[in-house]
Amino acid sequence: MNTFKRILIALGLFIIFAVGVELHTNLESRVLVYMYHSVSDQPFNPDAEEFTVAPAQFEKQLRYFSEQGFETLFATELPGIEPQAAGKKEIVLTFDDGYEDNYTDAFPLLKKYGCKATIFMIASKIDQPGYLSSAQIREMTESGVVSVQSHTVSHQPLAWGDKTYEDVDYEMGESKRLIEAASGAEVTAVAMPNGSFDQTVTDIAKKYYNVAFTGTDFAPYTGQDPMNIHRVGIYSRHTIGDIRRMTEKRPLYVLKRGLEKLLGLE
Ligand SMILES: [Zn+2]
Repeated sequence: MNTFKRILIALGLFIIFAVGVELHTNLESRVLVYMYHSVSDQPFNPDAEEFTVAPAQFEKQLRYFSEQGFETLFATELPGIEPQAAGKKEIVLTFDDGYEDNYTDAFPLLKKYGCKATIFMIASKIDQPGYLSSAQIREMTESGVVSVQSHTVSHQPLAWGDKTYEDVDYEMGESKRLIEAASGAEVTAVAMPNGSFDQTVTDIAKKYYNVAFTGTDFAPYTGQDPMNIHRVGIYSRHTIGDIRRMTEKRPLYVLKRGLEKLLGLE
């Protein structure tokens, strides 16, 4: 069999698979968790353009979510959710690192559209230039619109290099303590820096948290292990059409991305 035929057969099988998953996966039986970083017209550094969604673009996305009837949950609410039973369209909006623009640019829009969001704060960056201050964390928490949770103390990948048990324990426990002191609210969720984790990291995380966010891919929450929840990254390149395909047509979006890569269109 020549290569072209093989590719055609593989593509055909993939389309059958994608349509099957598409028909099988309804919006009410899963919760997609989105991962943002920065919302600003100005990237926080020149290399971070990809991680910076313009406020106008972010507003379009929030308008889409609210017009389509999606209810936003805090990350900490996920363990109590049974998507199969809930029968509602639910999503979780998260922001990593704790950039100050989450307060100046994202927070007003979240309030405007009545969308809840969770910020995973690098605890050592509280009150540092370009990052959220204690006062901003407290104000957003008290608004009931934003929940601030842990992204460890130092943001170093936990399962890489020569991290000891004590190092990881410090990253988990101390970040919870610092963020709770700033927000005045309980911290029960952690996002692993670079998605890096192993069994030891998970065991330590369980001492302090009951929700952990690990990888980034199209694996929505359907009630599985709350210590290993995946998220979908939203980047500056994503159009509102992409967001719609991600949210409503997951396999077709994966197919589109695969074809784009194959054809070198990105
Ligand atoms: Zn991060």
